[in-house]
Amino acid sequence: MQQITYATVHPKFKKLYKSGYPLITKDSFNTKKFVEGDIVDIVDEKKEFIAKCYIGFQNKGYGWVLSNSKDEKIDLDFFKNKINKAIKKRENFFNSNDTTAFRVFNAEGDGIGGLSIDYFDGFYLITWYSKGIYKFKDLIIKALTAVAKCKGIYQKRRFNTKGQYLEDSSDFVLGEKAPEPLVIKENGVNFAIYLDDGAMVGIFLDQKDVRKAIKERYAKGKSILNTFSYTGAFSVAAAVGGASKTTSVDLANRSRAKTQEQFRLNSIDFNSQNIIVEDVFNYFKYAIRKKLSFELVILDPPSFARSKKHTFSAYKDYTKLLEDTINITSKNGVIVASTNAANFDMKKFKSFIDRAFKNLKVKYTILETFSLPSDFKVNKNFKEGNYLKVVFIKKL
Ligand code: SAH
Repeated sequence: MQQITYATVHPKFKKLYKSGYPLITKDSFNTKKFVEGDIVDIVDEKKEFIAKCYIGFQNKGYGWVLSNSKDEKIDLDFFKNKINKAIKKRENFFNSNDTTAFRVFNAEGDGIGGLSIDYFDGFYLITWYSKGIYKFKDLIIKALTAVAKCKGIYQKRRFNTKGQYLEDSSDFVLGEKAPEPLVIKENGVNFAIYLDDGAMVGIFLDQKDVRKAIKERYAKGKSILNTFSYTGAFSVAAAVGGASKTTSVDLANRSRAKTQEQFRLNSIDFNSQNIIVEDVFNYFKYAIRKKLSFELVILDPPSFARSKKHTFSAYKDYTKLLEDTINITSKNGVIVASTNAANFDMKKFKSFIDRAFKNLKVKYTILETFSLPSDFKVNKNFKEGNYLKVVFIKKL
């Protein structure tokens, strides 16, 4: 076990950590004295205990608080308790027949920043967000297998210097290997999951409520454009919900076969759908030239992306993206604007939306908004952990 060391917190952070703030920020104490994986007691200038944290370097900060109690031991029981508590909170998901994939452990929302665990029909996928948390790998896996019935365990390591995924070997850890694809269900829709095929597994579980809303309340009889479509998860939800036709656009070559596969798994003929491999920004030009219009347009760009001709940053370019979208959305049509950018909040996002409509002198109304679903628990002292912002907008 790591030896416990001490760090005196900068006075201006004392109240913050006392009140339960979980992230160790760059300037809260001298983190240079420590190495990743160290357990450190944060103390005030009188050496009075405030919180126990581990050191782990992420883009967000330098580590996470694990406990506000001085006598807490960061051992097998600690991890077992945390994971067990998290599992108990997802009982409705474990008992569901029509959803077999969800998040079991959501980092600081479940008490351990830098660690997430997803469930895929009996298989568990652990994501380590720093070298620091990865040092606890053996303990955490032991804890997980002690409290959960795992068919098999996979992992993603997202901790080279840029927070990118490490791809030096297989992501399989132990147990049984999952079939490829592993077919999971989400609200009755089938999706193909590949647990050992690069950084992404085929679905973003944080959009489950949005897919459900589209399927059950927005898609029926509508023509749908799904941009930045990846494996076409939104298109498939819409098609299952009775869309008249879906068009999926993504730059990545792999997206065509992946999207076809998702349709096939839901007994939908992919030839009746439109799957386009192209830069979305080119597609917009084409759509405007051809005077295309859609009744539902889904926008889910990455926070930051560089293609051959474009650099896109959600913060700088979302307004322009919306302007292009408004032009190809029919009157009374709906735009689903989504972003997972952590560098702005819902209020700012709504201001981008407002600016886009004002620039084009088009009226709109916001129908509803979504943030993270209930399996993605948010820490009440770290609201910025709720990065997802989705706004359903009606063009008037
Ligand atoms: N909406 C998807 C997730 C999007 S992930 C879902 O719900 O599953 C972001 C996707 O954007 C990636 O698949 C990437 O290939 C694509 N992408 C990035 N830049 C793009 C561009 N300029 N044009 C089209 N697709 C792009």
